[in-house]
Amino acid sequence: MINGEKNVEQPIRWAMVGGGRGSQIGYIHRSAALRDHNFELVAGAFDINPERGKDFGMNLHVDPERCYPDYKTMFEEEAKREDGIQAVSVATPNGTHYEITKAALNAGLHVVCEKPLCFTTEEALELQEIATAKNLVVGVTYGYAGHQMIDQARRMIENGDLGEIRIVKMQFAHGFHSAAVEENSESTKWRVDPKVAGPSYVLGDVGTHPLYISEVMLPNLKIKKLMCSRQSFVKSRAPLEDNAFTIMEYDNGAVGYVWSSCVNAGSMHGQTIRVIGSKASIEWWDEHPNQLRYEVQGQPAQILDRGMDYLYPEALTDDRIGGGHPEGLFEAWSNLYTRFAKAMVAADRREAFDTSWYPGIEAGVEGVRWVENCVRSADNGAVWIEYQ
Ligand code: NAD
Repeated sequence: MINGEKNVEQPIRWAMVGGGRGSQIGYIHRSAALRDHNFELVAGAFDINPERGKDFGMNLHVDPERCYPDYKTMFEEEAKREDGIQAVSVATPNGTHYEITKAALNAGLHVVCEKPLCFTTEEALELQEIATAKNLVVGVTYGYAGHQMIDQARRMIENGDLGEIRIVKMQFAHGFHSAAVEENSESTKWRVDPKVAGPSYVLGDVGTHPLYISEVMLPNLKIKKLMCSRQSFVKSRAPLEDNAFTIMEYDNGAVGYVWSSCVNAGSMHGQTIRVIGSKASIEWWDEHPNQLRYEVQGQPAQILDRGMDYLYPEALTDDRIGGGHPEGLFEAWSNLYTRFAKAMVAADRREAFDTSWYPGIEAGVEGVRWVENCVRSADNGAVWIEYQ
């Protein structure tokens, strides 16, 4: 049960790069990091526009002297202070993640980076190498993965409640970009520009979310082969896709499927994962995150609710308010930020942090690797390829 008591001796001195005024994702980083007193926001380079970033930072009660014009100045100046930052979150458009994360690691900072971590597996492995060599934590914000019902699903699968796992069906298919909204939206414009977004749009932007949830639920499943077909229904988005289907074969004989889309007209989020075993199936949907559907073959379907005693104990440890009251995206993110904080403190003390999982550098690497494989398959004519 989480009730706001401290998890770390002292809040970690923390900064943000990006996530400024009007950004889509900045507020939830701050809300998640600050909620349980694990972090203290003491500095930032919040915006590509330095004046706007400073004004914004001051409105967040950050010392004006520590609202920096850019991340390089911030890392340099903070390194000179006794009370300099210990960790930084990167919430900028994709094309900057690699250089900012690398600079942060080289400055000796723990990092929480937005997905995708970078554009190529080679870059991702390089970041992993630096983080490992410097004993630094990198968290990647696959936010909903921190929801308690994901933990419940993980334990049900681990305990054999579904039998042998055969099929994993995933989708993140919303309809918000069914038309060319990028013509009037800055934060959609960069998402369809390969120079800023990278080699994919929806595969990386949304598909990697349920993919990571599947990695949490099924930590031993490894992709062996993959086939991806991608389309640009809004033609101006080519070569980046606004819709993609990916079929995967896992090394244990199970199969998986991911539908990534932003042109699923009428759909709000449409992020679901259904895991099908030889005895039963479970299904989770992010628009109703507190409920997990459990269907045993030959029996009436059951709806398992968050916060109830019949869940596995691991699915109750992060409970804040009990069953019935909804917990959602904000709490899921806060749970992850708590684990990031605990991992950072443990790393600084050279202690193992093995009490829980969190999306770390491996998750970042895997997300980039998956997108790279999907694009390789799609651009070779939607052919089956060996997963590399
Ligand atoms: P956005 O365009 O809405 O906001 C980007 C912010 O970064 C702006 O404040 C901008 O001024 C600032 N910025 C840009 N370049 C900068 C730089 N070099 N230095 C400092 N600040 C800079 O973008 P967004 O939708 O918030 O997305 C940001 C990142 O978050 C993307 O990588 C995106 O994929 C990711 N994202 C993740 C989730 C999730 O669920 N984890 C959801 C949405 C977005």
